[in-house]
Amino acid sequence: MLRTAIVTGANRGIGREIVRQLAGLGGYRVILTSRDEVKGRQALAALRQEMDGQTDAPILYHQLDVTQPESIQRLVDFVKDNYGFADVLINNAAILIDPYGRILEKPLEIYRATLETNTYSPLAMCQAFIPLMLEHNYGRVVNVSSGAGQIENMVNDMPAYRLSKLALNGLTLMLADGLKGTNVLVNAVCPGWVRTEMTTPDAPRSVQEGAEGIVWLATLPDGGPSGGFFRDKGLIMSNILNQPD
Ligand code: NAP
Repeated sequence: MLRTAIVTGANRGIGREIVRQLAGLGGYRVILTSRDEVKGRQALAALRQEMDGQTDAPILYHQLDVTQPESIQRLVDFVKDNYGFADVLINNAAILIDPYGRILEKPLEIYRATLETNTYSPLAMCQAFIPLMLEHNYGRVVNVSSGAGQIENMVNDMPAYRLSKLALNGLTLMLADGLKGTNVLVNAVCPGWVRTEMTTPDAPRSVQEGAEGIVWLATLPDGGPSGGFFRDKGLIMSNILNQPD
């Protein structure tokens, strides 16, 4: 039986690589989503070509703008109608629109837009898909966060991005607490500093390295951690909430 995995913002960067690695494992039907349908379908075609003969796992495409409730609902309906349940949700899509910003200088609009995509949208995706996980008591949710959002790293640059990822880490803890006692595990992860359009070509990591820890959390065994914040399969912050009392 194939598990159904959804990856947001998967037309490029780390998201695209997550799709490649998950599909390569076998056992997953991976839904590559993007807000721009043309870019998403191009990414899917390129991935299929790259992976030709390497896996039988189906990779499908579905449009998804994570900031648009009706777009989320269309994906929920697609998953429900075709597969009944959801198994894996990787909240990867994000924006960084204040790379050189300072907290007192950036207009509130920048904060609002950033939190909309990086924090409220993962929450909306969880509200939409975790019920489809609880129905069969299996789910793995991975919130792709950043060391920039670690509480110890609240310095004065990238203020909107930093705040959005700090809040995403908080959201992860609250979700894990709410799901305690179930087999739906929710964790946050930092991929490290990875060469993508979000960063610079001199970033030290490849997308392959960045995606590995994310795919590991997406495939945790039953009884695995929940509410943690990880990098390289190790805890950055120890907040394992769903251990037996
Ligand atoms: P990226 O190359 O900029 O990719 C971001 C993806 O998010 C793109 O596919 C983009 O789509 C999509 N996206 C943005 N807004 C969206 C929306 N409203 N709906 C759907 N998709 C949307 O960034 P990346 O480096 O791969 O980052 C992936 C994740 O890793 C992010 O959560 C990021 O914060 C995190 N991260 C990255 C690094 C790093 O060093 N790269 C470090 C720490 C954390 P479009 O192509 O349409 O814009």
